[in-house]
Amino acid sequence: MRIIRAEEMGMCFGVRDALQITDQIIEPSQVTIHGELVHNPRVIHQLDAAGFVQSSETERAAVPETPAVLITAHGVSDRERRRLNSIGKQLIDTTCPLVRRAHDAAMQLAAEGRHVVLVGKPGHVEVQGIVEDLESYHVVPDIKTVKKYESEFLGIVCQTTMPSCLLEEIREEITTQNHEADIKFVDTVCHPTKRRQTAMLDLVKRVDAVVVVGGRNSNNTRRLAELCHQHGVPALHVTCAEEVNEQWFAGFDVVGLTAGTSTLDSTIDAVQERLEKLACSDMAANCSAHPPMPVVGQQFQSECSEN
Ligand code: SF4
Repeated sequence: MRIIRAEEMGMCFGVRDALQITDQIIEPSQVTIHGELVHNPRVIHQLDAAGFVQSSETERAAVPETPAVLITAHGVSDRERRRLNSIGKQLIDTTCPLVRRAHDAAMQLAAEGRHVVLVGKPGHVEVQGIVEDLESYHVVPDIKTVKKYESEFLGIVCQTTMPSCLLEEIREEITTQNHEADIKFVDTVCHPTKRRQTAMLDLVKRVDAVVVVGGRNSNNTRRLAELCHQHGVPALHVTCAEEVNEQWFAGFDVVGLTAGTSTLDSTIDAVQERLEKLACSDMAANCSAHPPMPVVGQQFQSECSEN
């Protein structure tokens, strides 16, 4: 078995910056992280061990007990910011600038008198943060939920981690069903997500299966796995190396590796190491039956393959 790594994968700058800010906080016990800083159970555990108070994403309406509140990279609405300020909380804001850009785009469309159609996952914290500041909006996760809207003026924005191909399909459907409306579209999918999706599309052409590393509730990780399935390539979604199950790889000669934007480098490295061990034992068992494959792209050379 050979392993090919996606050209772009793993932690984005927005998540890295947020983590760096938490590293600089001197008294973590005085800070409540307002929802999950990243959708990554290992990071959540590390923050817990460091002494941070963490409120779950469904408990954010409560009054935090600590004097300071850390806004995650997913951002919050201005309404929520005002609520926290009004109860005397000091805010430590790690909102990703590209999430902020999506907020600004939605607000601008609303200011132009447009009904905002946000393409994204209903209930996701980033989506909640955007729509809470809007008077009139619809959240659309797929083509089925698109409809004819009452307004003659529509504005489309999207969650930063939407797959561009799905976004295009939904946008087309909105246009078809609202052909008389004046529609303005602002593409707010973030560049790190786009680059990872492009790398993924390149990867699926070259592999038999893909291992996707990331948290179970990480939207962009799940999207990467969905992208594989859409291209007829089986995907194994794992959160850590221990979940890499040897039996799953039976019959695959070339396996791709990618990871969501909230995945730590150390977690990817551990999964890579586990895959290399599998590749190594696989090659040891089959070296007489299969000649070495030509090198394509960025590839992990196992020790066995060099022998
Ligand atoms: S996925 Fe994109 S928008 Fe979200 S934190 Fe990372 S860079 Fe920012």
